[in-house]
Amino acid sequence: MTEGAFQYTDERFADLQLLRYKVTGFEHLSLKQKFLIYHLSEAALLGRDILWDQNCRFNLRIRQLLETIYTDYAGDRQTADFREFVVYLKRVWFSNGIHHHYGSQKLRPGFSKEFFRQAVRGIALEKLPLSEGQDGAESLIEELIPILFDPKVMGKRVNQAEGEDLILTSACNYYGPGITQKEAEDFYRSQKELGNKKRPIMHGMNSQLVKENGKLQEHTWRSGGMYGPAIDRIIKELQAAMPYAENDRQQAVIGKLIEFYQTGDLKTFDQYTILWVNDTEGEVDFTNGFTEVYGDPLGLKASWEGYVNFTDREATHRAQTLSENAQWFEDHSPVDARFRKEVCKGVSARVVNAAILGGDLYPSSAIGINLPNSDWVRAEHGSKSVTIGNLTHAYDQAAKGSGMRKEFVIDAQTLGILDRYVDACDDLHTDLHECLGHGSGILLPGVDPDSLKSYGSTIEEARADLFGLYYMADEKLVELGLLPDGEAYKAQYYSYLLNGLLTQLVRIEPGHQIEEAHMRNRALISRWTLAHYPQAVRLTEHQGKTYVEILDYPTLRLAFGTLLAEVQRIKSEGDYTAARTLVEDYGIKVDEKLHAQILERYKKLDLAPYKGFINPRYKLERNAAGEVTDIHVIYGEPYDQQMLRYSRDYHTL
Ligand code: ZN
Repeated sequence: MTEGAFQYTDERFADLQLLRYKVTGFEHLSLKQKFLIYHLSEAALLGRDILWDQNCRFNLRIRQLLETIYTDYAGDRQTADFREFVVYLKRVWFSNGIHHHYGSQKLRPGFSKEFFRQAVRGIALEKLPLSEGQDGAESLIEELIPILFDPKVMGKRVNQAEGEDLILTSACNYYGPGITQKEAEDFYRSQKELGNKKRPIMHGMNSQLVKENGKLQEHTWRSGGMYGPAIDRIIKELQAAMPYAENDRQQAVIGKLIEFYQTGDLKTFDQYTILWVNDTEGEVDFTNGFTEVYGDPLGLKASWEGYVNFTDREATHRAQTLSENAQWFEDHSPVDARFRKEVCKGVSARVVNAAILGGDLYPSSAIGINLPNSDWVRAEHGSKSVTIGNLTHAYDQAAKGSGMRKEFVIDAQTLGILDRYVDACDDLHTDLHECLGHGSGILLPGVDPDSLKSYGSTIEEARADLFGLYYMADEKLVELGLLPDGEAYKAQYYSYLLNGLLTQLVRIEPGHQIEEAHMRNRALISRWTLAHYPQAVRLTEHQGKTYVEILDYPTLRLAFGTLLAEVQRIKSEGDYTAARTLVEDYGIKVDEKLHAQILERYKKLDLAPYKGFINPRYKLERNAAGEVTDIHVIYGEPYDQQMLRYSRDYHTL
């Protein structure tokens, strides 16, 4: 629970906030597992240049040029131009290229063309990323000025505007110059018609489509083909990882991936994903390769990404403890005995921790991943879905340091309770919700599971949340070692009501109502409690600001228990009218005045809309004989140093 001095937040610039994540539990893995993670992590970093080139064909050269200016610039580094240049480079690093990582529009340099010209002229000739036919700085400047400065030249990485030629107008490098959308669509339509229709391969996924001598051809990304030098280095690390595989299945997965990288054969890729989906026994898992297709306007070509994860034992242990005691929780719940389950089994959720993020998952990353993407493989063999616990945790920590708490929590005493307990509580409440809440209770015989219709999902989320809230204050959790003491639940109660009554409104635009089921559920529970238990919780005003004030914590538990019993009755009996009344009365409407006040207070905190992560490093510890005796995680590498190191050590193209 103690976080020590770990810094979750790092640099903030433009619309970006950099965070760090902690590789929790790495030290408890076996040396063999650490080796496996080490080599897979190296493999995950080696595809970086592939992604940069996929995003735009000028990216790698521009990166080299900008980095050289950054390290070699001999002029005044305090000028506005140079400072703007640094911000621009940091944004380019973050976006893996010159287009915004999320919006895909070209990033606008804040420095002048004159500064750029003069900076390039100052660079030693042998360090300039000249293309064929260029003889020096002037021709390079000529070529790159429109690419960097003219918003009309390569303006969007992925253009989705209807009615335009999506390929000619997109700057991504999946299609060679001059290829039209129609040509590409015809090309892949005929491939699909000729191929297996029941179990189609991922046509076009791992190649660039080009026109050579007037004929369309694919440059396949494989060993000996396009991106071959990068892929060969990835293969080497995968080969180095193989002896450390946790079991034969996992070894076969890595072996098949190597075969795919060697051949580029998409049937081999399907075989690989099937092996991967079925590999569920080990603790370590990974993704490495051409994966998501959001970067291609036609949705065929996959950007390169890599990451490595391992099971979060602590989270898994917590979930198991709850699951083993599922029957006790069911038997003691405040709902009518007719609605309880006689035999109750908990569900185990798979929570993992990320060890490294690479390619299209770096620095901006997803926090949950569900693969593979092939429809027929998913239908016939299933898929793997994980929540990346340490990234979620880092986001939570960052949110807490953001000033939100200080702005919205009522007093120092409550702040103290939150600081002490809220981490332990958040995770546990989520587990109670997922592992027990959703699985508890029964429908009475003959009740249609869909009888609550559009209110069903809000009621279901409320049921799971209330189950968790009710038990958070139970001595049983302290007894099971899941909470430190009988005070801890107060942190959960306060933060839950604060979110449900006030702070979740920051995610809603002015004039809108609450739409999303989880948000509706939180509003429903909080406002129902506010209306029915004024002796336990109320809203107070202080200098024009609204705060949540809790007057009586034990009575709140009573409130949650009472509402849980009612919500379970609604669900068990399929009482549509009661569900509608509850949700409509408490879950949807937004008080305009209160909303405006909350948004105003939030805006003043000036939080960055986009976040991404700086990776940790892995350091090998050797004995006198040079043998590796342990592997350690090192944190704290500055953002620019990490980017420069990656460009140097994982430079492949
Ligand atoms: Zn849920």
